[in-house]
Amino acid sequence: MPRTEKSFRGRRLRGLYALVMTQADANLRSALAWIDSQHGAMADRVARWCRINSGTANQEGVEHVAAAVLPVLKALTDDVTRVPLPAYETVDDAGRLTQHPVAPAIVARKRPDAPVQALLVIHLDTVYGPEHPFQDVATSDDQQTMHGPGVADAKGGLAVMLTALECLERAEPQHRDRVGWTVLLNPDEEIGSPASMSLLHEEARKAHVGMVYEPALPNGDVIAARKGSGNYTVTLHGRSAHAGREFFKGRNAVTAAAELALQLAALTDETTGTTVNVAKIAGGGANNVVPDLAVLRCNARVADPAAREKLEAAIALAVGTLNAREGFAAELHGTFNNPPKPRTPGLNHLLDQLADAGHVAGVTFGTQDSGGVCDGNKLAATGLPTIDTLGPVGGHIHSPDETLNLDSLVPRAKLSAALLLGYANGRHEPPPRDS
Ligand SMILES: [Zn+2]
Repeated sequence: MPRTEKSFRGRRLRGLYALVMTQADANLRSALAWIDSQHGAMADRVARWCRINSGTANQEGVEHVAAAVLPVLKALTDDVTRVPLPAYETVDDAGRLTQHPVAPAIVARKRPDAPVQALLVIHLDTVYGPEHPFQDVATSDDQQTMHGPGVADAKGGLAVMLTALECLERAEPQHRDRVGWTVLLNPDEEIGSPASMSLLHEEARKAHVGMVYEPALPNGDVIAARKGSGNYTVTLHGRSAHAGREFFKGRNAVTAAAELALQLAALTDETTGTTVNVAKIAGGGANNVVPDLAVLRCNARVADPAAREKLEAAIALAVGTLNAREGFAAELHGTFNNPPKPRTPGLNHLLDQLADAGHVAGVTFGTQDSGGVCDGNKLAATGLPTIDTLGPVGGHIHSPDETLNLDSLVPRAKLSAALLLGYANGRHEPPPRDS
């Protein structure tokens, strides 16, 4: 279980800010009031986008969602582009490398020369492919809850992000022009963003503040630190032989994979939070054949960069040792595609500013750390202070019970808009980048 740690930083700051309610607060609140009128429009957008299937592998569906979102972006800026992404590579259970194309990403920019640059990121894909039984969108009788594929993760977040930008762009030029923004919508987050990773890094290096619209936690908290996550595949070649006639000439790839699995699992350390989950071993065939091929898959998680370094070295050593054994060849594929996202000075600074934005917007929240990962890990890995749960409140994501708390749409859009308007009017300077 991930270690969970409540922070009272937000609560303490809110108490402080409550004492200094100013004219600036009143001005910000009146700019945010427009969002109250957008509840119905936001809910309609979420329902419309969720009725379009956009499972990651459904390229056509992902492009269809992008096409539905484009008019909203184009009303905000003339600078909207579809960015083709490279295919990503996987290793199949026969040890073969396979290429997979994905839909293009969408990048939109406004005021790229402004002194404060915000990068707003969310994904267009969902975990539910066209064959999944969960396709319908429904709203509860009391209009409190929407149930449907991607309502919270992450089409609700997409609606929140765009409404916050609409609010910013409605402000007088002197109240918005200090902030420029880039929106990056990627098509492959639910499989770890293998194709959009370089684009995420590239945009993150240019920004001052990272804002990712994954759903907030079911109690409204936002996530601060996240573990890092790496996915690895080891292809193991041995030597096949007749199990009766020439058993001792064979080199059994399946038993070698089993030994490796135990070595990798033993790298788990509950005290540091490092885990290695051996997820699958594929290989073998007829009972009378010593198997010459096995493919082992595992997921590794660590709390901080030092633990990552240690674990990566240990995995490389275990695979290298096996590779050096007579008659065996072992290849390691994969990496920490989501580096750990610790609580850095930049992140703490940004959390303080978000608490202030919450004070203005009337949104209260706590913070928690998580063992889960998202694109926020990748942005933060470049030194960009990033909050990655700015989406609405939802529950049961990645399951056929996924729901969105409709009453959270307006407050969460106000929260983001208040943060952006706070940079625009000089209430806040962007946090320093982490090195
Ligand atoms: Zn998501």
